[in-house]
Amino acid sequence: MNNFDLYNPVNYVFGKGQIAKLSDLTPKNTKILFAYGGGSIFKNGVYQQVKAALENYEIVEFGGIEPNPKYETLMKAVEVIRSEKIEFILAVGGGSVIDGVKFISAAVNYEGDAADILRKKILFKEGANVIPFGTVLTLPATGSEMNSGAVVTINATQEKLTLGGSALFPKFSIVDPTVIVSLPKRQLQNGVVDAFTHVMEQYLTYPHDALLQDRFSESILQTLIEIGPEVVENPSDYKLASNFVWSATMALNGLIQKGVPSDWATHMIGHELTALYEIDHARTLAIIAPSLYRVMFETKKDKLAQYGKRVWNLTGSTEEVAEKAIEKTVEFFHTMGMKTKLSENADNYEKTADFIVNRFEERGWKALGEKQNITLEKVKEIVEMSY
Ligand code: NAP
Ligand code: FE
Repeated sequence: MNNFDLYNPVNYVFGKGQIAKLSDLTPKNTKILFAYGGGSIFKNGVYQQVKAALENYEIVEFGGIEPNPKYETLMKAVEVIRSEKIEFILAVGGGSVIDGVKFISAAVNYEGDAADILRKKILFKEGANVIPFGTVLTLPATGSEMNSGAVVTINATQEKLTLGGSALFPKFSIVDPTVIVSLPKRQLQNGVVDAFTHVMEQYLTYPHDALLQDRFSESILQTLIEIGPEVVENPSDYKLASNFVWSATMALNGLIQKGVPSDWATHMIGHELTALYEIDHARTLAIIAPSLYRVMFETKKDKLAQYGKRVWNLTGSTEEVAEKAIEKTVEFFHTMGMKTKLSENADNYEKTADFIVNRFEERGWKALGEKQNITLEKVKEIVEMSY
């Protein structure tokens, strides 16, 4: 097992009715920016619950953080925080609002061009001068409620880039599984597939000796396979909802990544598809992952076989089980409403592979993956196979 440092300071508050605890969790006598997205919180009662819980606080509202949050929008919030002298941010929404708030938190006191936070991958370590924030999660998918990473799009140049660092963990996250009832089916499907792929990024590498982490990962995958199709049909079933939400958090709160190699190439390539075509994040993963497993088959076949045996109960030789495991994964994505070919999700896609490879070259990215052997040639092959 590799050495690791497990640090996760998020106060994770889970369950029915927990939004009422906001006033216990939010620092007293602070002026708050209440950040949210396109307005779903007005329709499902979350806005009203938050306002009721924070009735004694001075609040400035900032709505309109869009899915795949835009740098341009977030910088407007940065201005509001500076001019209103805000001391705490509350993010109420899905991964986009929470990620957006992580960027806002980092950008307020950043000296220099805030776009550099994304372009130069500035790391915000514990002690960095950021604005503290908490979250109320409304969409289980990203794990952003319990991790310190974020993804932000610079609209002007269609770049979707990451930021992070241990200063960007939420102070608290309130996770009430009943709020998923109002999610459209498409977003429920996306949530399951994003969480599933997060596990795969950290699990589907090569066999190693971190036995417990593998079992953690397999149990999350099995849970998502078991409940995913059902929760989409019946999000008001509390057993399904609560297990879904907890699985999505556990998929990307750092635990399963400790002591093991990780890949993340599916996400890195997928981000480009969202930047280019605005395809939902999870749907880009369902397009890229199967081709990536096929192109990287020699590197990944042993772990694919372990996954096939333990998660899908497949039998046969290593190669057979590994092949069948990819097919099972594609079938699962289809069951979850994904269209796994780029041509089914975008028009005029024929130059996508060349475009992505150029972009990676411009950024100085030479290779991706757990062995850094997903070269730009392989990236091209993966994207072309996904057409
Ligand atoms: P999202 O973009 O936050 O939300 C998608 C849509 O669902 C929005 O229209 C939103 O409406 C709506 N919605 C959210 N909660 C709802 C509810 N309870 N009822 C009805 N509608 C609701 O989706 P997401 O999948 O959570 O986040 C995707 C972003 O996270 C992408 O940019 C992705 O790259 C990023 N990501 C981050 C991480 C990480 O570790 N930080 C990991 C993976 C992906 P409103 O706009 O009204 O809220
Ligand atoms: Fe993701």
